[in-house]
Amino acid sequence: MAKIEMATPLVEMDGDEMTRIIWRLIKERLICPFVDLKTEYFDLGLENREATKDAVTAESAEACLRLGVAVKCATITPNAARVDEYKLSEMWKSPNGTIRTILDGTVFRTPILVKGIEPYVRTWTKPITLARHAYGDVYRNVEMRVPAGSKVELVRTAPDGSEERTLVHEFAGDGVAQGVHNLDASIEGFARSCFNYALGTKQDVWFGAKDTISKTYDHRFKDVFQEIFDAEYKERFAEAGLEYFYTLIDDVVARVIRSEGGFIWACKNYDGDVMSDMVSTAFGSLAMMTSVLVSPSGAYEFEAAHGTVQRHYYKHLEGKETSTNSVATIFAWTGALAKRGELDGTPELVDFAKRLERATIDTIESGQMTGDLAAITSLKNPEKLSTEAFIDAVASRL
Ligand code: NAP
Ligand code: MG
Repeated sequence: MAKIEMATPLVEMDGDEMTRIIWRLIKERLICPFVDLKTEYFDLGLENREATKDAVTAESAEACLRLGVAVKCATITPNAARVDEYKLSEMWKSPNGTIRTILDGTVFRTPILVKGIEPYVRTWTKPITLARHAYGDVYRNVEMRVPAGSKVELVRTAPDGSEERTLVHEFAGDGVAQGVHNLDASIEGFARSCFNYALGTKQDVWFGAKDTISKTYDHRFKDVFQEIFDAEYKERFAEAGLEYFYTLIDDVVARVIRSEGGFIWACKNYDGDVMSDMVSTAFGSLAMMTSVLVSPSGAYEFEAAHGTVQRHYYKHLEGKETSTNSVATIFAWTGALAKRGELDGTPELVDFAKRLERATIDTIESGQMTGDLAAITSLKNPEKLSTEAFIDAVASRL
């Protein structure tokens, strides 16, 4: 069989631990036998981030802006324990944070529904796509501990040197304070990404924030969404029979739980971080979720929503068998290949990606799955496979 050709390379961002092992298996068993894979390879594994003083992370994001489509493996975000473990010269920043800052935009996460894995919420019959703003707020904060007796103020210095001051708090006792920010341009990009994605996938958009408490900051999000919707999208939504509405974040949460799914839930950065784990877990598993960052300039970065599955990796290093779910990482590859095919006008590549997704879902629905799913499936007598055996089962079906 002739291999499927690629017109433009993907940006390949390799990562760490168990997902790095899965990454290699997916390429070797599921993609390279069928596709003449072309990538620009960046090793975002922690050892290479250390060796390049983390320059590789920014370079990979720049390559994504240049080539338009990237696929990323999960990576370690160093903490104190990782600094010791990997003998790091610095506690390098979260690669996802660095990449999101360069690409800007919005992360869309959608659960992968399979028969036999029932959502914990009985009414959810359609996927809920979570759209997470990828810039600012607490992810770009500055913060400090405040000793008793101090006064903390927000100070804005205008170009002419004049100052505007707002008192945060006069601290009688010890405490903490933080400053966060966002940018109109980024919020506008977030709104447009959500509305475009909604039109592309024919789904409503629900947006919630806390404007009753945060009367300037969160209110700005609410206003920007409404202004952009009214000016640019209202008619197209009406034609498509779609709806956009804003309500308080706590009201959205209640509505989401009562809903049947099938809409886009737009969330500020932190809400999206937390709620995507809630939604994915409630749909079955963090490993059954697609995730794509869409930049306002039209670049796409596909990834898995979960981490490097450190606990499984340590088992693997001890020579024990693991049963790590590779579905989210497979779908990161298929998402990227399909988008590349769509942009390049190579339908064979899109078709291959769809077949690989189908083979993956069919494998699970036939009863062959990894341990995380075997533990929660409603299918009778599921066959629990090892990490590698599951990928091989998908390969033979493919
Ligand atoms: P994690 O890797 O998501 O794993 C947490 C737990 O969730 C696992 O121990 C496992 O539970 C379960 N799990 C997650 N993915 C799974 C999969 N594919 N198959 C089966 N089970 C899965 O989170 P973590 O252990 O907190 O973080 C590990 C590292 O990942 C950290 O260094 C963190 O910085 C990094 N991280 C990276 C990203 C990213 O790059 N996108 C995101 C989050 C975290 P059981 O152990 O119970 O089986
Ligand atoms: Mg998170």
